[in-house]
Amino acid sequence: MLRIITDFDGPIVDVSERYYRVYQICLDKTRNPRQKVRKLTKGEFWQLKRSRVPETQIGIISGLDTAQAQEFSQLRKQTVHTQPYFQYDNLGDGAVDTLLQIQQAGIDLAVMTMRRVRELNYAFNQYDLGKFFSEDRRYCLGNDYIKTGDTKDKPLLMSRALQELPPAYDTWMIGDTEADIVAAKSHGIKVIALECGIRDRNQLEQEEPDLIVKDFSYAANLILEQSLQTI
Ligand SMILES: [Mg+2]
Repeated sequence: MLRIITDFDGPIVDVSERYYRVYQICLDKTRNPRQKVRKLTKGEFWQLKRSRVPETQIGIISGLDTAQAQEFSQLRKQTVHTQPYFQYDNLGDGAVDTLLQIQQAGIDLAVMTMRRVRELNYAFNQYDLGKFFSEDRRYCLGNDYIKTGDTKDKPLLMSRALQELPPAYDTWMIGDTEADIVAAKSHGIKVIALECGIRDRNQLEQEEPDLIVKDFSYAANLILEQSLQTI
């Protein structure tokens, strides 16, 4: 059995609009009523996120002072993964076609995400994606799980998945952040990093994934081609 374990935000869903909306709201809430700030464009904001500029720095670049930037960062962290903001997420280009392609090729597919159960279910319902992932192929955080950090939490999920899932002759991880790459590499799993998500190529290269490609569709096609060659 050939298996793909895919991250969710990045490969399948584009979160940039949610993150940008929350940025704007937090900036507005943090600034003083008469304070002039410099609201970044979505392109500027997303490029900063992709190059891993810290939130406090994004606050300062936007015209906040140091104390406000701390407050802004805290507020953002409390807000970004809450309702009603998930409605701003968009399906990635070609994501559903790619999921269909994987399913039709008979590849075992699991999702591994730092979303909580309710957050994952929300998106599954929103875009009718549940049909691609059976209950025992959903690796996410519990609704009450206390997060420590993605690069710590995700390897724990990977470890659980590798204990629970039936053996596969070949497994690939697909993801868009350092957490995905660390989770895979710490368990000897091959990993393809995607440039369509929240990290730019330069950031991804530092974590040394096996491959870096444009998006989910490219990654899936590469895996499919390779599997055909093996046969
Ligand atoms: Mg991701």
